[in-house]
This record gives sequence, C-alpha cells and structure tokens, in this order.
Amino acid sequence: MTSSSPVWHPFTQHAIQPEALDVASAEGAWLTLGDGRRIFDGISSWWVITHGHRHPKIMDAIKRQTETLDHVIFAGFTHAPAEHLAERLVACAPDGLTRVFYSDSGSTSVEVAIKMALGYWHNQGKPRHKIVCMEHGYHGDTVGTMSVGARGVFNAAYQPLLYDVTHLPFPSEGLEDNVIAACETACAAGDVAAVVIEPLILGAGGMKMYGADTVRALHQVCRKYDVLFIADEVMTGWGRTGTRFASEQAGITPDILCLAKGLTGGSIPLAATLAREDIFEAHYSTDRSKTFFHSSSFTANPLCCAAALANLDIWDSEPVMDRIAALETLQRAHMKGLQGIDGLKNLRQIGTITAMEIAVAHSDYLADIGPKLYDAFLARGVLLRPLGNTIYVMPPYCSTPNDLDLVYGAIADAAREVR
Ligand SMILES: *Cc1c(COP(=O)(O)O)cnc(C)c1O
Repeated sequence: MTSSSPVWHPFTQHAIQPEALDVASAEGAWLTLGDGRRIFDGISSWWVITHGHRHPKIMDAIKRQTETLDHVIFAGFTHAPAEHLAERLVACAPDGLTRVFYSDSGSTSVEVAIKMALGYWHNQGKPRHKIVCMEHGYHGDTVGTMSVGARGVFNAAYQPLLYDVTHLPFPSEGLEDNVIAACETACAAGDVAAVVIEPLILGAGGMKMYGADTVRALHQVCRKYDVLFIADEVMTGWGRTGTRFASEQAGITPDILCLAKGLTGGSIPLAATLAREDIFEAHYSTDRSKTFFHSSSFTANPLCCAAALANLDIWDSEPVMDRIAALETLQRAHMKGLQGIDGLKNLRQIGTITAMEIAVAHSDYLADIGPKLYDAFLARGVLLRPLGNTIYVMPPYCSTPNDLDLVYGAIADAAREVR
C-alpha cells in the first residue's frame, strides 16, 4: 500500500503515518500481511474479535444466509434471523430487558439508547433532557455520543455543537462515595433523563477500572430518582470483563443496554439496544407522533443477524467461559512478572483485559510515546495500540500461552527500551 492511496483512515494523522499495513488474511488471533509477515492481534482488532478471526461457525452462518436473504427493509418487514436473535438476546441478557432495537455500530446503539430515554420522558408529557455521564467516558464518535463522552482534543473542533451534560468524576479508589453523591445531587434536580456509563471499565478513556459496587450504587441512585440507567456494554459485553456482561457482576439490570463489537464475534457490523418493557410502552400508542423515530438503512441486516446467531451458538456450545477464565489466569501471571520492571505502574486487570502506564514525562494521548511503543510492538510481531502512555492488552479468547509469552515479552522489552 502506498501513500498515494485515496483512503482516509480513522484516527490516523496521515502526515506522520503515511503507510498503512496491508493485511492479506487473518485466522484465530493472528493477522497475515501482504508481505507474509504475521502479527498477533493483541487488541482484538479494536476490541471486536472475541473468539478469533474467521471462526468457522460464524463464517458458515454468513455463507448460508447469503443463499436466502441478503437484506430487506426492516420497517413493516421482518425475518427469521432478526426474530431468533432478538429472542435469544432477551434470554441471555440481564433479566427484565424485553425489547431489542437493531442498528449497526456501537455509536448508533448509544444514540438509540439516548433517544429512547428522551422519548420515554417526552411521550409521557414529562420532558427531561439532561444526560449524566462519567468523566473519561467514551460512547462513540457521532455528535450525540461525543456529547456524552470525554471532552478534549478529539472533539475540540466540534465542541460548540455538543450538548450540555453533567459529567460525574471518575470513581478512583477511595473516591467512590463522592461520585455516588455527585450522581445523587445531579439526579435530585429532577431534570435528568438518563445516566449513561461504561460499567466496570472505561475503555477509550484509558482502560480505567472501578468496582462493581459503584456500578450498583449508581444504579440504585437512578432507581431512587426514577432516572433511566443506560449501560454501554459495547466494549465490556461478550466476556471481556470475565462475565458475559459487566452488569452481571454488579447484579443489576440496566434500563437500557447497548451491545455491538463482539455481538457478531467481531466479524461484521451489528448493534443492538435492549430496553425494558416500559420504555417500549412509552412509545406504544395509536398516536403516530409517539413512534420511535429512528432507523438506519441496514437495520437488522440478515447476514449480520446470522453472524450474531452463530456467535450465540458458540457461547452455548463451546467452553467460552473456560477460555476466558484461562486467559484471565494466564495474564494474571504475566502481570505479576511485569511488576518488578522499573517504569511500569498502575498494573491492573479485569477479566481478559490488562492495562498499565509507562512512566514518561509527556503522557497525554498525543504524546510521542504512544506511536513509539506501537512501532516497538509491531517490530516484535505484536499489534498493541497504546492510549497515550497506557499500554493495554485485550486479546481474542483463542490466544495461546505462547502468544501471551510473545505479548508480555514485548511489553517488558519495550518498557526497558523506552527508559
Ligand atoms: C467502541 C465503543 C463505542 C463505539 O462503537 P463503534 O462501533 O466504534 O461506533 C461505544 N461505546 C463504547 C464503550 C465503546 O468502546
């Protein structure tokens, strides 16, 4: 691939990084480049691949689906893959979520959730528009989801268009009670439509982890003030945090649950926003003006639904939880091994995700350290894409002990080199 390519890549400064690596194929946890080089996919291709690339059951399901129905308008029409998938999502999600709305990305799943929450209040004649979210949160890159995410260099150009929200501070260890109190103060004002958070770990905000107790307490505050609780499990869903959904660890059912990324095992794009019955009911009326006015062209695409059904089959028929537990244990040992290394700090883990900071003078997202580390890892055959000076590992569940030796060896080497 050359720099004369017309392709404009995401989150890429083309003047600094003109060359994109050409990937020819992928299998399991590994990518193969056009020049034959193999690279371990240590971040599951931006957090989407769960079981591994090209899982045969998912690939077969997509192929089979192409023989009957590629796509059809989803307003006024339905199809078996979407119907079956909705039933099975309701069955495996936390109890009490009864309605499934399809879209096509994590961002749209959150946009849909926010619109459902606003519609819920609007249609009852009690309009509420304030959204409460968390400092360092990330919910997508559309204008609506940027508004509820962290503000910074990523959205400085768009800032005037972002709507006003209340950001709770991040519940760092020891400060949890303050955050719960801040949520209580915000909700008590009476104008809050919903609280939207990433449960247990903030992904793009720097793999910041916090406890299930805090998730539960925030949920309780919402209960108390009749505020909708939206769990953005776009990243945490499908096993990443050690349970199928992070909400399970908090023992809660969110009012609205956002799923995407691993929903199809990461193979093709699909998102789902699950809602409690009363949120659906607030839109259920002979009055057409109370319709939930949202769609995307490819809502519930049958090929994507077939891929998601195959993903659920894998969860039901293969030892996915055992793989996750094994990956968690293996990485725990590796993290212990890193503890002695000078310059690595805040070593932390939740489920299959590990993270740490590398001690450097300039540590924000735009600092040179990120790209430097990225190149150092690639030179060792490992794809890791640090967030500023935060190195994290989020491997597919099929990763082997040898793969992890390679990854954690590369981290240890890079830490020594950078010093
Ligand atoms: C990735 C992510 C999103 C956005 O998903 P896209 O599919 O990239 O639009 C939203 N929320 C969280 C928590 C994410 O990690």
